[in-house]
Amino acid sequence: MEYDFIVAGGGLVGSAIAYGLARQKHRVAVLDGGDRSFRASRGNFGLVWVQGKGADFAPYAQWTGLAAGLWPRFVEELETETGVVIDYQRSGGMHFCLNGAEWDERVQEMEKVRQHTNGSFTYEMLNHAQLKKQIPQISRAVVGASYSPLDGHVNPLYLLQALQQGMDYHKVHYFPGQSIDRIETQQGGFLVHSTQGTLSAEKIVICAGLDNRRLGEMLGMDIPVIVDRGQIMITERMQPFLNLPTLHVRQTAEGTVQIGYSHEDAGLDDGTSPSVLKTLAGRAVSMFPLLARVNLVRAWGALRVMTPDHNPIYQQSASCPGAFAVTCHSGVTLAAMHAGPVAGWIAGSSELDLVNQFSTDRFNVSPA
Ligand SMILES: Cc1cc2nc3c(=O)[nH]c(=O)nc-3n(C[C@H](O)[C@H](O)[C@H](O)COP(=O)(O)OP(=O)(O)OC[C@H]3O[C@@H](n4cnc5c(N)ncnc54)[C@H](O)[C@@H]3O)c2cc1C
Repeated sequence: MEYDFIVAGGGLVGSAIAYGLARQKHRVAVLDGGDRSFRASRGNFGLVWVQGKGADFAPYAQWTGLAAGLWPRFVEELETETGVVIDYQRSGGMHFCLNGAEWDERVQEMEKVRQHTNGSFTYEMLNHAQLKKQIPQISRAVVGASYSPLDGHVNPLYLLQALQQGMDYHKVHYFPGQSIDRIETQQGGFLVHSTQGTLSAEKIVICAGLDNRRLGEMLGMDIPVIVDRGQIMITERMQPFLNLPTLHVRQTAEGTVQIGYSHEDAGLDDGTSPSVLKTLAGRAVSMFPLLARVNLVRAWGALRVMTPDHNPIYQQSASCPGAFAVTCHSGVTLAAMHAGPVAGWIAGSSELDLVNQFSTDRFNVSPA
């Protein structure tokens, strides 16, 4: 076999896993799609976000907490190896509540996550006056916020660049523009046919975002992938006024302000629409009146890679051992987990009991 592993897809998920496998000295190839591919990794909001994750599924709350805890060391190693500064800050993060009902709902959600993690998830609910002390530009419309010191943010494009340079540093063979058409099993491994030729490996990890359902079928896996469009806009640079990310507005290291986010079923249309952008802008201005006079410089849409219950899928094929699938909608937050423990689990070099909670078996439970 030419490689120990072929990773299908070079977005944040595939790149983090390939980087992690190569750091363990495996021979790794990444086959990535072309210019017309959908790439959530190039259109996301950049949050490394813990609060609220897994409120309805305890393993995901624990998983996200583990991931966030791995981030400081992950960044240190990645930046040292590549020289790419990815603007990571673990500054804590806030989720604003605009009325009493939102506040009550938030309290319940935060409490569930705290219980699911046996108290390792920490948070505070801040009323308007407490919030105003920390962020003077906040408007009266914000009644309060949940705050968790565990949250942070990063420049997601620099993260992707660093992971790709990290792959290069660890001698991963990266093949861009090579969309995989077909995968065959053969004695001791897999033959992977792409638009440019065929490669072989002992194991394969499919991280092809929205194409994971199709590729999974070739490997005996049913990976339910759902598409969900998000729209984001970004302003011109401003004086610093927001020193930590919020779920809908964050100021980047360069001073621009990123405004999100929406959820839409728009099929495979990754464009933008004035009505949604107007809603996003209106909400941001209602939270931060100073944004009313700022120029927007860009807006974009991107397609989330979702699962039916919004929790990640980590699956090894029962019928094709050595074939794995990873599908998730928080590929920024989980990058440190993917490069570390998940790569170890796939390589068989470390135990990771919690990962078994994320197999597709959970979708096949018949109602009692
Ligand atoms: C609007 C928006 C906001 C978001 N905000 C956040 C956030 O704040 N924090 C967070 O943690 N996450 C966020 N996300 C989610 C995050 O961006 C995704 O979880 C992550 O990018 C998924 O990465 P991926 O590699 O699985 O998929 P993708 O980025 O879609 O990459 C898939 C890759 O596979 C390749 N590919 C596809 N088909 C094939 C094939 N047949 N053969 C070879 N290669 C193939 C493609 O070329 C592509 O490079 C957001 C997403 C969106 C859309």
